[in-house]
Amino acid sequence: MAAEEDHHGHHHSDDHGHDHDPIEEGAALRVRALEELMIAKGLVDPAALDSVVEYYERQTGPRNGAAVVARAWTDPAFKKWLLEDGTAAIHSMGFKGYQGEHMRVVENIDGIHNVIVCTLCSCYPWAVLGLPPAWYKGSAYRSRVVREPRAVLREFGVDLPAKTRVQVWDSTAELRYMVLPQRPNGTEKLSATDLARLVTRDGMIGTALL
Ligand code: FE
Repeated sequence: MAAEEDHHGHHHSDDHGHDHDPIEEGAALRVRALEELMIAKGLVDPAALDSVVEYYERQTGPRNGAAVVARAWTDPAFKKWLLEDGTAAIHSMGFKGYQGEHMRVVENIDGIHNVIVCTLCSCYPWAVLGLPPAWYKGSAYRSRVVREPRAVLREFGVDLPAKTRVQVWDSTAELRYMVLPQRPNGTEKLSATDLARLVTRDGMIGTALL
């Protein structure tokens, strides 16, 4: 049954803890082989490739999420809808498709900080955040952010007050999370367009404050 399988074809709900992903590893090896071949033949410049990946990680994808966040900050009815039914609210802005089918948006407020992870592999809300950064897919982040979220967040430069509760959300193929960051102080006069420029990818993962 398709709904029970994730993008790699394995069952997600009951086998968290697996580290191994033969399909993803196979694809990664093929990409690596192609990349090396193209570099060896002088068809691509490795720096240019890196900048393309960087562009998708930081620019294209996360701009969708940033537009969602900015709208939530400026439109209380939309924010209410977004928190109640993230899937429908996000789809209404035209952001849908692969790895974005079922979304839940979790709001950072005074005293509660949210952060997202996929402990099993790399489930990530592509429709709103684009490609996941390498560290998000790495085993260090995936295992540590659950056990010691404060220490991990501190390494990202996020120092939370001791009284702030940290909530870690484990994404799966069925349900992917996005953080609604707190609107920065002093931005009351900014338009949604200008506000969107303040929203970073890591802010929507929960590994940065804005
Ligand atoms: Fe995953």
